[in-house]
Amino acid sequence: MANSVTVRAPSSTANLGPGFDVFGLALDAFFDEVRLSKRKEKGIKIISKDPIPVNPTKNTAGLVVKAMLNKFKVNSGIEIKIKKGVPAGFGMGSSAASAAGAAVAFDELFKLKLGPNELVKFAGMGEKASAGTIHYDNVSASVLGGFVIVRTEPLDVIQIDPPKDLVLCIAIPKLKVPEKKTKVSRSVIPKKIEHAAKIRNQQHAAAIIVGFLTKDSRRIGESVIDEIVEPARKHMIPGFSHVKKNALASGALGVTISGAGPSVIAFATKSSNLKRIASSMKKGFSKAKISSETVICRPTKGARIIKK
Ligand code: ADP
Repeated sequence: MANSVTVRAPSSTANLGPGFDVFGLALDAFFDEVRLSKRKEKGIKIISKDPIPVNPTKNTAGLVVKAMLNKFKVNSGIEIKIKKGVPAGFGMGSSAASAAGAAVAFDELFKLKLGPNELVKFAGMGEKASAGTIHYDNVSASVLGGFVIVRTEPLDVIQIDPPKDLVLCIAIPKLKVPEKKTKVSRSVIPKKIEHAAKIRNQQHAAAIIVGFLTKDSRRIGESVIDEIVEPARKHMIPGFSHVKKNALASGALGVTISGAGPSVIAFATKSSNLKRIASSMKKGFSKAKISSETVICRPTKGARIIKK
């Protein structure tokens, strides 16, 4: 049995508009590398040069390893080395990428041969460290890759391969992200939802699923419409309305908040003018005096073992 395993886990976008807590999409924009090694001393030790908590109960990878050590009664100390590629706190599934990497690496290190739902279940336990609650959209995408639909009770994650011509453009504003951002941005979502808005969101969500099943990027992009969560959250992102308007005017098919934000994601196809969409999004943030970075990316596969 190998003494250490390194896994590369991708960034992801959650919600895709109307699929709050249900939809996720793995993106090749950024990757985390998580290396798990057995060690003689008991307990979990986390090493990282990046600005993330190294206390195992505050780190998403630490919580996953802790849960898996307990569940499988593994009697070994573990060192977790985390190289962050996914910027933390920008709605790109950073905390989830580390959690997904840890779950897949632990499974390999101890030859557990867990199925997809079980891997996702353990990876989801990590999200408690950052969001305060367990939600599975980002971790499912990061573990399984492609487009995911999450059903809970019981946990059942459905994965669909995205169309090959789907391209995304993300604008990441250089904003100071509050601690527990996900928790804060969850608190602004209305408790009571107008019936008609709920129905329209379901229509859009259904159309997105059909778009992924029929490999129709245009249908996916044009259905990224959210009448519930986006209106409640957009005030938290200065410049959001300009960014969205500009991207649509530059040919994006749909635009929404990536996960809990503050990044904004535009859906397009290979044949769109992606550079123009990117620069228009940047200009939108500039209008609110916010500088931003843009990334053009594609859907990708899930967490992969890169070294043993
Ligand atoms: P994201 O969309 O990037 O996942 P969150 O706000 O949900 O954003 O998560 C980022 C928060 O999670 C930060 O407060 C960060 O300190 C915490 N965190 C804990 N462990 C990790 C980790 N391994 N990688 C990234 N963030 C982590």
